[in-house]
Amino acid sequence: MLSEFDREIAQARIEQERDASLKAVTKALREIGTTECIDCGATIPPARRRVYPSATRCLECQIIAEREAYLK
Ligand SMILES: [Zn+2]
Repeated sequence: MLSEFDREIAQARIEQERDASLKAVTKALREIGTTECIDCGATIPPARRRVYPSATRCLECQIIAEREAYLK
């Protein structure tokens, strides 16, 4: 039988672990790309992220960015 104190510690540990795994996922996502366009903040469609996991822009902003890079 767990005491109230033990339960609180267990609960805190679970929350810590959940927090850590959430941070790890966020970090991994940041390394392979982002879910939001870095230019306009729009959500990058999951289909696009599947094709380009490292995409950091939505398709529209990517086209603009590539055109600008090309024109430089
Ligand atoms: Zn965009």
